[in-house]
Amino acid sequence: MNGNVLFEIKDLQKKFGSLTVFDGLSETICKGDVVVIIGPSGGGKSTFIRCLNLLEQPTAGKIYFEGEDITAKGFDVNRHRQKVGMVFQQFNLFNNLTVLENITISLTKVKKQSEEESKEKALKLLKRVGLENKANAYHPSQLSGGQKQRIAIVRALAMEPDVLLFDEPTSALDPEMVGEVLQVISDLARDGITMVVVTHEMGFARKVGTRVLFMDGGQIAEQGTPEEIFEHPQNARTKEFLSKVINVI
Ligand code: ADP
Ligand code: MG
Repeated sequence: MNGNVLFEIKDLQKKFGSLTVFDGLSETICKGDVVVIIGPSGGGKSTFIRCLNLLEQPTAGKIYFEGEDITAKGFDVNRHRQKVGMVFQQFNLFNNLTVLENITISLTKVKKQSEEESKEKALKLLKRVGLENKANAYHPSQLSGGQKQRIAIVRALAMEPDVLLFDEPTSALDPEMVGEVLQVISDLARDGITMVVVTHEMGFARKVGTRVLFMDGGQIAEQGTPEEIFEHPQNARTKEFLSKVINVI
């Protein structure tokens, strides 16, 4: 297999009871890709991205990660999740821990790094997103949504994953905080971090994506470079979706 391939997704199927979300989905994600997934609500974007770190177990089909079949029986899910970081719409920080502890807990407990080393790393990363002064804050009362999400990104990044998954990272934010979070994600993309990002932020998708997937009705209906998708969409459903979400006035 090409050494550059990170995820090889083959004939993936996911059902919830009698509902088939997708059937026969195949895709390849390479190192250095910034794959942006767009498409209407209910199209299967979250389910797809959650299959990549096995938050959802595929019903059938295969996912290979760095050449290894992660859908195989007995596969070590926890080890996989160390390599595949995830950032959620709702941040999912621990309320009872400080910002610093939110970041260091996985480093000390999962990666078995020393307290000191973990703290140093966390502070360095917090500095990178301009939040080193929030290290001792408890998040619910002392942080804005934008700050919480930047911390959630740092927490994922601290584990030094091979790829970061984002599921609508700015959808729960007040509009004035969207920019600061997209800026952090853009900076990571520029630094060459491989990512898969589900988003409704079309300006971001266009600017930062190396590849855009349009997902609708459980299918990748169209994909291409940002220019191909946004300037010259071929598929009628892509055209219709874009005409609805991109403001022309
Ligand atoms: P998107 O993220 O594109 O909005 P989702 O992946 O969340 O789409 O959902 C795809 C379909 O799967 C929807 O019909 C949704 O209702 C259904 N679905 C998602 N998660 C579950 C679940 N845990 N149980 C049952 N149905 C689900
Ligand atoms: Mg979703």
